Amino acid sequence: MLEIQNLTHAYADGHVAVRDVNLTVQDGELVSIVGPSGCGKSTLLRCIAGLIRPTEGRIVLDGTPADGVPDNLAVVFQDYSRSLFPWLSVRDNVALPLKRRGMSKAQRREAAMEALESVGLAHAGTKYPWQLSGGMQQRVSIARALAYRPSLLLMDEPFGSVDAQTREDLEDLTLKVRGSDGMTILLVTHDIDESVYVGDRVVVLGASPGHVRADLPVDLPGP
Ligand code: ADP
Ligand code: ADP
Repeated sequence: MLEIQNLTHAYADGHVAVRDVNLTVQDGELVSIVGPSGCGKSTLLRCIAGLIRPTEGRIVLDGTPADGVPDNLAVVFQDYSRSLFPWLSVRDNVALPLKRRGMSKAQRREAAMEALESVGLAHAGTKYPWQLSGGMQQRVSIARALAYRPSLLLMDEPFGSVDAQTREDLEDLTLKVRGSDGMTILLVTHDIDESVYVGDRVVVLGASPGHVRADLPVDLPGP
């Protein structure tokens, strides 16, 4: 369980990006975080990822106050251009974090190719990131996160740079892995439709400074 308690973050210039955010996320939940540009969505994710420290409040993971980057975490950043290593092939980029799983080289490569196939990039394994379009690089980042099978996955506007059809495919893929692996996912988006389609729950942030305006269960009839 992830608990965000009275979280406030002010940047070094004094700008308060989020104020007094409280949020509890159960294991296996897929929570969409939606709100206008600048309302603090990325700031909130960066705090949970341990990349920046809350100015006030705390983040508690499975009952233990978080300190630094949590174990078993994967993040898909909005800015794909800085997320892959340019000197590694696409397959090796996806396989790299699996070293921490104690997998053999052959196992890592197999898992990487499987993940690449799931994002429609089985053919791109031997290419280098800079040989791919932006949307393809973002799909590689998603494949890397999924291959790692984290218990907590944070996604910041992950589908922003891909075409509409790929976006739908990736939304469905996210739902599928969540169902099969039981990972907890926080998905930041500014797209209301996406937040409702993908999320079990939609947390709406308001701006100036960022705060929770609404926290709504999504209860739609199945397809
Ligand atoms: P988003 O697409 O999440 O709204 P932004 O465009 O607001 O992101 O920010 C892009 C990058 O610029 C981020 O790394 C963010 O931390 C940084 N940034 C945004 N606003 C400021 C600011 N006022 N001062 C310094 N850095 C900023
Ligand atoms: P969102 O992801 O919802 O667009 P952000 O978390 O990127 O919002 O930003 C929230 C607010 O904090 C914005 O007003 C942004 O300009 C500001 N901000 C973001 N990063 C920085 C930074 N590094 N320094 C100062 N202000 C920042």
